Amino acid sequence: MAKISINIKEGKVAKEADLIIGIDLGTSNSLVAVIKDGKPISIKDKNGKNALVPSIIHFATEQDVLVGNDAKTKLISDPQNTIYSVKRLMGKSYHDIEDFEKYFGYKIIDEDSESLVKVRVKDKFYSPIELSAMILKALKHRIEQSMDQEVSKAVITVPAYFNDAQRQATRDAGKLAGLDVLRIVNEPTAASLAYGIGQEPGISQKIAVYDLGGGTFDISILQIQDGVFEVLSTNGDTFLGGDDIDRAIMDYWIKINNLDPNILKTDKNLSQELRLAAEEVKKQVANTNNSYKKMIKFINCQISPEQMNDLIKPLAEKTIECCKQAMKDAGLQTSDIDHVVMVGGSTRLPIIKEKVGQYFGQKVHDDLNPDEVVALGAAVQADILAGNQKDILLLDITPLSLGIETVGGLMDTIIPRNSKVPSKAGRQYTTSVDGQANLKVAVFQGERDLIQHNRKLGEFILKGIPPMPAGIPKIEIHFILNADGILKVKAKELRSNVETEIEIRSQYGLSEEEMAMMLLDSIEHAQADMNARALLESRNEANAIVHSSAKFLEQNASILSVEEVKMTIAHVEKLKQAIQGDDKDLINKVMDELNEYTSPLAHRALDYNIAESLKGKKLTGE
Ligand code: ADP
Ligand code: MG
Repeated sequence: MAKISINIKEGKVAKEADLIIGIDLGTSNSLVAVIKDGKPISIKDKNGKNALVPSIIHFATEQDVLVGNDAKTKLISDPQNTIYSVKRLMGKSYHDIEDFEKYFGYKIIDEDSESLVKVRVKDKFYSPIELSAMILKALKHRIEQSMDQEVSKAVITVPAYFNDAQRQATRDAGKLAGLDVLRIVNEPTAASLAYGIGQEPGISQKIAVYDLGGGTFDISILQIQDGVFEVLSTNGDTFLGGDDIDRAIMDYWIKINNLDPNILKTDKNLSQELRLAAEEVKKQVANTNNSYKKMIKFINCQISPEQMNDLIKPLAEKTIECCKQAMKDAGLQTSDIDHVVMVGGSTRLPIIKEKVGQYFGQKVHDDLNPDEVVALGAAVQADILAGNQKDILLLDITPLSLGIETVGGLMDTIIPRNSKVPSKAGRQYTTSVDGQANLKVAVFQGERDLIQHNRKLGEFILKGIPPMPAGIPKIEIHFILNADGILKVKAKELRSNVETEIEIRSQYGLSEEEMAMMLLDSIEHAQADMNARALLESRNEANAIVHSSAKFLEQNASILSVEEVKMTIAHVEKLKQAIQGDDKDLINKVMDELNEYTSPLAHRALDYNIAESLKGKKLTGE
């Protein structure tokens, strides 16, 4: 039986449910997962052993490229041609990573400081996107072999703090690897999904996702309600993780062997060998809780669980400090947290679990493999997108309102904040000047009534509106916000069908704090904004009446007395005066007086025009 699925994004009904895969593209390790018999499973290597693919690429020659475990061994034998931690370079310019360049064992170059970084391998330059695509290709190949079927659609995860450039780079890498990336999902959101948290309708839950990987630490505080995930705060350290523990263990060995620490700098091969040994030892001691002893060349490599814990404690403390800050930013107490989810290989360390459990005052979720949980969650998300999970609609929300500038600098909201995304909305506008051929559409984000206080996202001009009197063109403005926060704005004049559209990244370059500031500002200035809006609206209305009165006089001079023309002009002049001032009530009063005076005249004109038209003449005096 063919499965039927509804694609929420496109509103299309698909007949055959596609296989959509979930990918965790990690700094240290990547992996791919898929739903099988209703359950997420990670895809293992040919021997059915390892699900993790080290995010490492080795170039023997331009054509001869290794990815994963095979490449990892080359870190020792051929470090210049072995690329790791590519994720740190995604969407970055040379300027962004200058301070960390020494961290990388390979050559990073910039063509000019503005552009994005490239990595030099022998005589060729590779962008982080191309390198990430190689890792993604290896994952795609792995699952195709394993499932014996072609795969082209994927969900890929990224850290919650990734900005738009980094998200776009990840998307591009997917495309380059031959994958249609249906959704970019935040890693903490995926981890929660893997545990099935947040899928019960009606209740609101707060979740702390603690992710200690190889080189990075992230803490994310999420709120989930009715399938809507909202990131309340994030914190962390982009240079803190399992690698630091490995380094601490190496340093410890150097110390107990009374060696000169410089030996690690001068003997790169020994250094790499010790590093890999330290990682192995760390895992063994953590898993077995037994001491370890081994000789590497002339170095006695031994450590007890107690000694290892002493090395890890300062690192654990640092992560707890980050957690405290994240909780503070989210405005929460630890008792508000409903679930603590452990992510990242380094959370296998018992002492880390213990410290995190202590801080949050509850048992942490650690039943799933912490280094697989993000990919498993990505597979769950993929399954939801494929329409296989009936009751779940997974959505994000837009944190700030989106709208356009209207006459007088007013913000006209089209998609209000907290709307679920993907989201679509539209509204009709018209021109304010006769014969107006071009219309500027300026797009803003924020909660304030005046656009000058909001953030401009972009603008474009709808050109070629055929000449029509003011108020006649029907211009439809459509906002389409997709699941990644990318906004498409379309403007179309319905009588002539001229149209233009642009694409805008609504979140680009905006930090959580800036967003919070914009919201606070809008609350603080609510009263003043309302007054300003009321004044502007009165002015706009009054201007329109000044305009229509002039037109009325011009078209109906023949049926008005000299006195009537004079009086109308006097009222209009008085209104023009009032518009110059800041008194909204005065503008409204003068406007009412003008309306009152001209209303009988307008009636007479109407009657006259009807009578004329019944005689077979034209409606207006053109
Ligand atoms: P990333 O998200 O950065 O790609 P992972 O989540 O795969 O990284 O975590 C990799 C880190 O986890 C490495 O530092 C690795 O040494 C560490 N790790 C993996 N298994 C264990 C274990 N059993 N005990 C301690 N650390 C572990
Ligand atoms: Mg990770």
